[in-house]
Amino acid sequence: MKSEKKQAEMIREISGVNPYKCMKCGKCSASCPSFNEMDIKPHQFVSYVLHEDIESLVKSESLWKCLSCFACVERCPRDVKPGKLIDAARQLVVRQRGETYLSPDEVPELLDPELPQQLLVSAFRRYRR
Ligand code: SF4
Ligand code: SF4
Repeated sequence: MKSEKKQAEMIREISGVNPYKCMKCGKCSASCPSFNEMDIKPHQFVSYVLHEDIESLVKSESLWKCLSCFACVERCPRDVKPGKLIDAARQLVVRQRGETYLSPDEVPELLDPELPQQLLVSAFRRYRR
């Protein structure tokens, strides 16, 4: 397991996001459709990366509740892109587990009738590389 400092660097590198630009206005969280289900809200997620508390992030429910809709990315006045940070943290966890590839055969068993189609498309974009 890499140090939290190293993991924070990787999240910043994968996402291309600079969390230092955040001014904590909370607009990202206000526009998030998964807000109620998240234990670490989008604006808090940015702070956790900033303070390199990655252990809390990788254990959070938020990692798997984010729909990658990027409403927060559109809304952020400082171009911080919290959704991209969450996405990068998710990739970090998946890579650490050694599961960088999603096979089409695995999809039916993961399907849930409530699952947004956009999530499936995003998953394929990411895990078929
Ligand atoms: S909208 Fe942008 S600047 Fe405002 S809290 Fe969220 S990430 Fe920070
Ligand atoms: S990308 Fe994730 S964190 Fe951002 S608004 Fe959508 S669900 Fe919320």
